[in-house]
Amino acid sequence: MIGAGTMGHGIAQICAMAGFTVWMRDIKREFLDNAMQRIKWSLGKLFEKRKITQETVDKTLGNIRTTIDLKEAVENADFVIEAVPENLELKKKIFREMDEIAPKESILASNTSALPISEIAESTGRPDKVVGMHFFNPPQIMKLVEVIYGCKTSDETVKTTFDLARKLGKEPIICRKDVVGFVANRVMNPPANVLAWLISEGIFKPEEIDSASFFKGGQRMGVFGLIDFVGIDVQYSVLKFFEEREPERFEVAPIIKEKVEKGELGVKTGKGFYEYPDKKWQIPSSWSKELAEKFNPLWSMLISINMASELVAEKIATPEDIDKAVKLGFNIPIGVLEFADQIGIDTVVKQLEELSKKYGHIDKLRNILNPHPLLYEMLKENKLGKKSGEGFYKYKK
Ligand code: NAD
Repeated sequence: MIGAGTMGHGIAQICAMAGFTVWMRDIKREFLDNAMQRIKWSLGKLFEKRKITQETVDKTLGNIRTTIDLKEAVENADFVIEAVPENLELKKKIFREMDEIAPKESILASNTSALPISEIAESTGRPDKVVGMHFFNPPQIMKLVEVIYGCKTSDETVKTTFDLARKLGKEPIICRKDVVGFVANRVMNPPANVLAWLISEGIFKPEEIDSASFFKGGQRMGVFGLIDFVGIDVQYSVLKFFEEREPERFEVAPIIKEKVEKGELGVKTGKGFYEYPDKKWQIPSSWSKELAEKFNPLWSMLISINMASELVAEKIATPEDIDKAVKLGFNIPIGVLEFADQIGIDTVVKQLEELSKKYGHIDKLRNILNPHPLLYEMLKENKLGKKSGEGFYKYKK
């Protein structure tokens, strides 16, 4: 395990719990000591809740070794997982170094959330054995792992990685191309940026969108309330990766950039899209049932369906894997494509067309709001979802 931070210590823990011998490497002793403390704390909690025995605690701790020496960490490793900060140059440098030291047949996996696996792989002499293995935070709890192909990753490497994720008790899915956001984030992140564009253009106010999301869509924090809670800077750093890789579709909405520049980062600074005098999240007083009538909370879902349709059309992920990814990665009860089949593909297309007609004049939104050609093909073939017996899934009549 390379990197012992938020993700690294958690991944090391679950690997050790599954019985693997783990070498955990970071750049300073104190970071490793801190990681071991966090692992002990987490195991202690699991023991308290009677989820594991004292024997498992002891065995797990006995399976983990720590080092600041990269050679010691990887020279005998069958499988390496990297979770150092999200910086392409840093990751390439580490993969280059690891390639020289690790056994020739071992797999080198990256836990990156947004960087291209193919580019990381090119810094090694074994691009077929470099793969994305994207865990979700906290890895001890979240079941989803996305296994991602770079352009030269072999099927065998993906299979081994997939099987390893299973052995760790996870629910892996396969992403056949290293598109930005992979599957779960690519489907679920763009809607918030589209809605932020509508705010930037003065078409809606955050309290209108959030009132509708809260009163009609059942979202406890609304879209912008949630961004305030997470931190607008955090949201910005995710969206920026999308913008860098596909600027024609994912340019970050000006309102988000402005808020970051002004230091209005959300709950933690007392002001974001809303004000928080005590620096604690609370339902903004401006939300109301009247305002909820001004916005249709279904729009976020429609944009996600459109993003997911592209993944299906380009054979990057199957409908089953997409729905599994969004349900497990974002804790939502229904997959976006299951939902599309339920409301009907004809309804999806009609509503996306309406959206596109209304807001497609905003240059940056046209490419996201226009219904994907796959949806039109489905209409032609009468694949309308549940009501016609087939949509993204097949149904017994
Ligand atoms: P983090 O900053 O908490 O931890 C990174 C660790 O890597 C630090 O302890 C740092 O000292 C160490 N490090 C830096 N250079 C190193 C080197 N050369 N060798 C070994 N260790 C080194 O970061 P994080 O949140 O754990 O994220 C790590 C990766 O996981 C990133 O690529 C991130 O995008 C991805 N990721 C993060 C999350 C999340 O929610 N935090 C979720 C999924 C994926």
